[in-house]
Amino acid sequence: MSNLHISAAFDSGNIDVVDASNPDGVHLRIRKDAGDQHLQWFHFQVAGARGRPLTLHIDNAGQCSYPKGWEGYSTCASVDRRNWRRVHTTYEDGVLTIRHVPEADLVWFAYFAPFSLEQHHDLLATCQASPLASIERLGNTVDGRPLDKVVFGEGARQIWVIARQHPGESMASWWMEGFLGRMLDPDDALARVLRDAATFHVVPHMNPDGGFRGHLRCNATGANLNREWHEPTEARSPEVFHVRNAMDESGVDLCLDVHGDEALPYNFIAGSEAIPGWTARLAGLLDCFKTEYAKATPDFQTTYGYPVAPAGEANMTMCTNQVAQRFDCLAMTLEMPFKDNADLPDPIYGWSPERCAHLGRATLHPMAAVLVQLR
Ligand code: ZN
Repeated sequence: MSNLHISAAFDSGNIDVVDASNPDGVHLRIRKDAGDQHLQWFHFQVAGARGRPLTLHIDNAGQCSYPKGWEGYSTCASVDRRNWRRVHTTYEDGVLTIRHVPEADLVWFAYFAPFSLEQHHDLLATCQASPLASIERLGNTVDGRPLDKVVFGEGARQIWVIARQHPGESMASWWMEGFLGRMLDPDDALARVLRDAATFHVVPHMNPDGGFRGHLRCNATGANLNREWHEPTEARSPEVFHVRNAMDESGVDLCLDVHGDEALPYNFIAGSEAIPGWTARLAGLLDCFKTEYAKATPDFQTTYGYPVAPAGEANMTMCTNQVAQRFDCLAMTLEMPFKDNADLPDPIYGWSPERCAHLGRATLHPMAAVLVQLR
């Protein structure tokens, strides 16, 4: 029998091997993000285990950023890196245990179906092949990677859509593929109406450094980008610094920031109800967007979500609150599950890349519904 080999030395990889000498009890640890605050994303390859029952223990799962994320969670695994099935996973006494018999020599395991930096570049290339879109360079990241914005549409309203502030939330990129694909479809009537009424500024990947490094939440300096919107600096959080400056230049009438949530098995939206500038107008817009999203797809719901902070106590370091206050506009955080949508569960794939893309495409409906009321 060949030896077991475990590696995470690739784009968006994350794992440390403690002991891989025995396939019945492999011991692994998730590496911390830069900044030593956060950890939960994992993505690694196991070689040499075809047909052998594998038991993998992630020993430090209980010390991760969101231990509740492991309750009712199943790990994603793939042999072709396209189809990511859920495999048997348990969480007990702070240890996550994965049991699986790989059907091929190489098998990849991940917290959620990964969306690599290479795939992000493919997405940009696909967008620029459309005569409807152009790509603008906003600036560079800490590691010197490009930060790009996809621009399309010719209308007066300014709509911003951003994703992957938290790089481990790869579902946001799968959502983005669906959203951009539909928005740049010349034969889609709803996309055309939206492009006529608004100019879209889309940043598909806010944190390419963190994504490549296999981080959960932070950039290369250890900054959690969605806690940097009050006072971003070019040294610590250039990703937010450049995007916020570009927003100041264009103005913002609607902002959607796309994320994933470790614990809740639902798709939901968090608004900016606790900002000092909250008004009945913004409340009406938020309510309309959420109601129309739920009408557009049963994968979106309004029953479960985050509790709303007390009035006036919004965390202004977060994108949604900062942008809503700064531009007196509708700004929202979309959360998708790492686990599954408990309303419509799929025991084989859980919440999957395909379902993220469908949710992205469905987003055109609530956008169209609020468009005429934005100002
Ligand atoms: Zn997030």
